[in-house]
Amino acid sequence: MKYFLQVFGCQMNTSDSERVATVLDNLGYRQTKAESQADLILVIACAVRQAAVDRIYGRAVKWAEWRKQHGLVTVLTGCVLEHDRKKMRPIFDLIFPMKDLKKLPRMLEDRSDDIVKNEPAPLDEYFEVLPRYNSGFQAYVPISTGCNKFCTYCAVPFTRGREISREPDEVVEEIAKLVKKGCKEITLLGQNVNSYGWDFEGVSLNLPKGKVLIYKPDAKGELAVQKRRVKSPTNFPGLLKRIAVLPGDFWVRFITSHPYDMSDELIKTVSKYDKLTPYIHLPIQAGSDSVLKKMNRLYTIEHYLERLRKVRQHIPDSVISTDIIVGFAGETKADFEKTVDLVRDVKYDMAFIAQYSVRPGTIASDWKDNVPAHEKKRRDEVLNEVLKHGAYENNRRLLGWEQEVLFEKDKKGFSFGKTKGFKNIRVPSSVKLAGQFGRVTVTEVSPWSLSGELIR
Ligand code: SAH
Ligand code: SF4
Repeated sequence: MKYFLQVFGCQMNTSDSERVATVLDNLGYRQTKAESQADLILVIACAVRQAAVDRIYGRAVKWAEWRKQHGLVTVLTGCVLEHDRKKMRPIFDLIFPMKDLKKLPRMLEDRSDDIVKNEPAPLDEYFEVLPRYNSGFQAYVPISTGCNKFCTYCAVPFTRGREISREPDEVVEEIAKLVKKGCKEITLLGQNVNSYGWDFEGVSLNLPKGKVLIYKPDAKGELAVQKRRVKSPTNFPGLLKRIAVLPGDFWVRFITSHPYDMSDELIKTVSKYDKLTPYIHLPIQAGSDSVLKKMNRLYTIEHYLERLRKVRQHIPDSVISTDIIVGFAGETKADFEKTVDLVRDVKYDMAFIAQYSVRPGTIASDWKDNVPAHEKKRRDEVLNEVLKHGAYENNRRLLGWEQEVLFEKDKKGFSFGKTKGFKNIRVPSSVKLAGQFGRVTVTEVSPWSLSGELIR
């Protein structure tokens, strides 16, 4: 029996796929890269943008035919909104939330996903499934699932549920094992890593002074955190410290930091430990306070810029990236210009720009999606140009400087990798370097990548 895995979406979905692979391998299935050869197709979906959902429908017509022809089994999991779940029901034999992964063998046996409704999974059952890592030297390690922030545009709190942190001992143990096996780069994953551990008894919610924690605008200040007891409870900086003192030669990255929850303690921790890389992904989403308010992002531009100054002050070689949504409901041209100004001033090293799309069931889905598609596209393009200038300027300052690099692949006389700050870099090389650290002098730059020469 062969299975085909189709992953849409972010690093979290990729990480999910490594756990799904374990379950299917243990059942005796073998993975195939040829979709048409598969007896089982499992889709890990992304619901963050409509485009990702449409890609599933695009492929599903073919699958429906194969199902009729040779009894193909189709399975859907990952991030799926209720709205899409109903629409996709006729296409998929099984649909289940990722937290119920351990039940997949029984679902396959029964050819029914009823068990998911009848026996809800305990909080952290999902983490009990060990991943089958895609790479020997890079690994994603989820430290939490779900999200409590309820940004008004976002599907995640609905598809993944409340935020649950993984036990610190378990995280540290997984990383220690990976490092022992030669893993060089660990990326900690969470929708908001900064609030890691806030659901543990004995860990206080580290909020900016005088701020009240209101997650859901309609929940009237209700504290949506359910505390639970774990061994050695700790917050995110505490977890990082435990990882950073593990023996071995490796780097640690983490995504994503919510700017409202980014503490001084975290910034200082990153600056202090050599293994913690200076790459900080700090999504701003919009450059106008009124849009941020409508988005329920909780911070103001002033707060964001103050956090950023602190990052740059304590981590001088920091590399900053961000996420931005253009054309959010009610975003005026004047609002957008504020985003342009902010992006110009901050000079990000990288950014992921998304054109707003309504997600059914979110708070903003009740508001008119009033920015026309062509205007969203224009804003996207304008912002890209501004970003490119800033990133190029930053990269030009690296000319002639040495960079630590982890090489990822070798192709046609070149080795490609990432700097410690997560910038793409390539060097000419006659030997294979993938999986190794190296030192490189930067000799050429473009906005999104560097070239250099290996220092021997
Ligand atoms: N937890 C992360 C992001 C998760 S979703 C954070 O808070 O930053 C990844 C990115 O997708 C978001 O940062 C946002 O820029 C984008 N996104 C989310 N919902 C969207 C929507 N409805 N339309 C367009 N982009 C969206
Ligand atoms: Fe979505 Fe906001 Fe949570 Fe990020 S912090 S996952 S954008 S709700």
